[in-house]
Amino acid sequence: MSGIDNLPPLREVIATHDLAAKKSLGQNFLLDLNLTAKIARLAGDLSQSDVLEIGPGPGGLTRGLLAEGARRVLAIEKDPRCVPALAEIADAYPGQLQIINGDALDVNPLEHLTSPIKIAANLPYNVGTELLVRWLTPPAWPPFWESLTLMFQREVAQRIVAQPGGKAYGRLALLAQWRTDPRIVMELPPEAFSPPPKVSSAVVHLSALPAPRYPANPATLNRVVAAAFNQRRKMLRSALKSLDPAIEDHLHAAGIKPTERAEQVHLEAFCALARSLDS
Ligand code: SAM
Repeated sequence: MSGIDNLPPLREVIATHDLAAKKSLGQNFLLDLNLTAKIARLAGDLSQSDVLEIGPGPGGLTRGLLAEGARRVLAIEKDPRCVPALAEIADAYPGQLQIINGDALDVNPLEHLTSPIKIAANLPYNVGTELLVRWLTPPAWPPFWESLTLMFQREVAQRIVAQPGGKAYGRLALLAQWRTDPRIVMELPPEAFSPPPKVSSAVVHLSALPAPRYPANPATLNRVVAAAFNQRRKMLRSALKSLDPAIEDHLHAAGIKPTERAEQVHLEAFCALARSLDS
């Protein structure tokens, strides 16, 4: 017995269903159910929430989420080989687990979920950042989800929480920190996975702020940040020149020295610059 439910241990599930990991699908499985229960707890109280899980694989985290009391879980998995293993979990939790065999980039989860919604996943590395950016840039804010609890390569996790002054600081940090409160809540060595990936991983918890941290038009802010970091080694007065011929005036209005580089500028100042450009 696994300790958290009456289903077989994950190694047995993988052997029974012939789930040899595929690199092309970013498959690095978590087999320790104590660990997956711990990750599920990092997502907070799930008893009143529907949970969206991307890439359940053989279902370790899915079992953690259900054992920790998730109201319902919608699990979207691309690999059809995993579906029979996941169906066994669905049988053990009647009415609580819905499995969709498909690409998370193509499925609209809102057709299947009821608010409040939390997202929890050990993301496939090849689509992890793309999904995060999508969740952070919905047509309107607040988004459909309350929080994201996501496993990334540690280097990506560090880029999400990075502060000004270092190489990790860039578009992802600004995007995440503008609309959420991102924190690294767990670090995991490669050996926590089967097969072990080449790099360490980390779980990031992002709770959605009710409104963006500082006012700014999303499209303008995106344009400013993209231009600033596309030429991150240049001084902002030249990196941003194409945005507005009077860019130096706008930089002054935002309290930014025209000779500074993108890496040194705080989110609040980028938002002030976006507002000045729109004024
Ligand atoms: N959650 C499982 C765990 O923790 O053991 C598996 C995590 S593994 C890192 C990533 C999972 O995402 C794999 O099961 C893979 O098949 C699935 N996957 C890869 N690309 C996907 C996509 N575009 N949509 C949905 N699932 C995908």
